[in-house]
Amino acid sequence: MTTAPPPYQPNGGAVTPDDYIKYQPSIQLPLGDHRHVGLLACQRDPLLQRLSTEIFSSNLFVLPPPTKGTKSAKTRKAATETPSLSPTSDTKIYEIECLDTCLFPEGGGQPSDSGVMIVENGLELKVAHVLRKGRKAIHFVEVPEGKQLLIGAGSKVELRVDWQRRMDLMTTHTSQHLLSSLLDAISIPTLSWSLTPYPNPCYIEIPRAPTLEEITQIELRANELIREATKVWVEVEDQNQKQETEEARKSSKSMPKDYEGGVVRTVVIDGVDRNPCCGTHVPYLSLLQSLHIIPTTTPHSSTTRRLYFLTSARLTLYIQKSTLLLSSLSTVLGGASAETLPARVEALVESSKSTDKALKSIKNELAGLIAKDIKADRKGEGEWIKVVHREANEGTTGLDFLGAVSTAIWDDLTKGEKGLLILSAMPTPFVATSTSTLHLSGTPELVSAFGEAIKQVDIFKGRIKGGGAKGRWQAKVEGKLGEEEVAVLNNAALSLRK
Ligand SMILES: [Zn+2]
Repeated sequence: MTTAPPPYQPNGGAVTPDDYIKYQPSIQLPLGDHRHVGLLACQRDPLLQRLSTEIFSSNLFVLPPPTKGTKSAKTRKAATETPSLSPTSDTKIYEIECLDTCLFPEGGGQPSDSGVMIVENGLELKVAHVLRKGRKAIHFVEVPEGKQLLIGAGSKVELRVDWQRRMDLMTTHTSQHLLSSLLDAISIPTLSWSLTPYPNPCYIEIPRAPTLEEITQIELRANELIREATKVWVEVEDQNQKQETEEARKSSKSMPKDYEGGVVRTVVIDGVDRNPCCGTHVPYLSLLQSLHIIPTTTPHSSTTRRLYFLTSARLTLYIQKSTLLLSSLSTVLGGASAETLPARVEALVESSKSTDKALKSIKNELAGLIAKDIKADRKGEGEWIKVVHREANEGTTGLDFLGAVSTAIWDDLTKGEKGLLILSAMPTPFVATSTSTLHLSGTPELVSAFGEAIKQVDIFKGRIKGGGAKGRWQAKVEGKLGEEEVAVLNNAALSLRK
């Protein structure tokens, strides 16, 4: 087909065969120089990386005002979602239509291409986004101040597509058609799909989860078709003269409302699938390299599930990440083999649960003993105000532990007893954290008054984070609680006793 040889050929030299586009008799040939969406160079020759063409129209881009459900709302959305579409003081954005383009405008679930436009004198302008407006493909081009004359109608330009991005989007899109058709064959229809940002796995939404056996069979069959370099082509018909068939009804339903007087494209995977689609698709499945289905689905709604899949560069990266993850996990577990990892992790989780249980019971017992000591110190009836400061190792300086001590004390005291218990704790120098804790309990008015007052004392200002209600107040204190801080707590308590 058309084009100068691209300098960068990551496709092993593959070229789009001449019979990739099959025109139905309804199409009037030859087609003119000015091509519309449906028959753009990127859609006729998906392996085309560069195209020499001419500017047809060029207009300064102005961000449309926020409105809903209109064409300008679509432009606004594209503009606001593409950060580079924000004009700067020395760069303006222009909406440029060329006679033809090798940059695909978003559509059919496939995001827009990006690339560059080379103008006179070899000046390279960034094409940040391409948007379909009716039958036109509009390039959003960054033009430096003073260079507007180079992009007038009739100017000769060369378009270059960001090939790595396109190959990723294109191979993923074709692999979705392949996967959906194989699932269709076992009565699992595709309800929707999402081409997620690179390098995440993409997904299709389906009404039920396939079994592991079904997934294995589909994956094997898909990779067999890839290995055989199964041909893919596009059949093109005149939109206005399409026959009234079931396929025609299906394709007119998937057609955007603002697309009229164009063509209907059916993407065919030889012997496997026919699907109306405007996207770019590889001419041979071998360009997908491989297809992997992640064997577990995730629920999306009460009746649908998401099935994730990967192909091409995403798959290579995914395998690399997965194997690195497995080997680091294996190292952490002392060199366990991959097969034994689930059992080893399960055993560790179980052991951790029983340790937690034992620790909780020991902590409760210890809290009870500490509470007993504190109560033994109590003399006589009446209002009871007490400060207890502890310096301890990890596990018994936390607010949960102080809370357990407090519960053990107050549960045991006579109902209606009045008082204020001030428990503070700080970690020993052997503990990495330097956060201390403060726990107040007792008569609600005393507790909240003491808590709020202590926050205002100079030595604690800005260091205490916390609060409470109903006779319980707790806070984390930044830094250690040294002699000075404890003295402040004691003095404050003393002033309450008076
Ligand atoms: Zn498609």
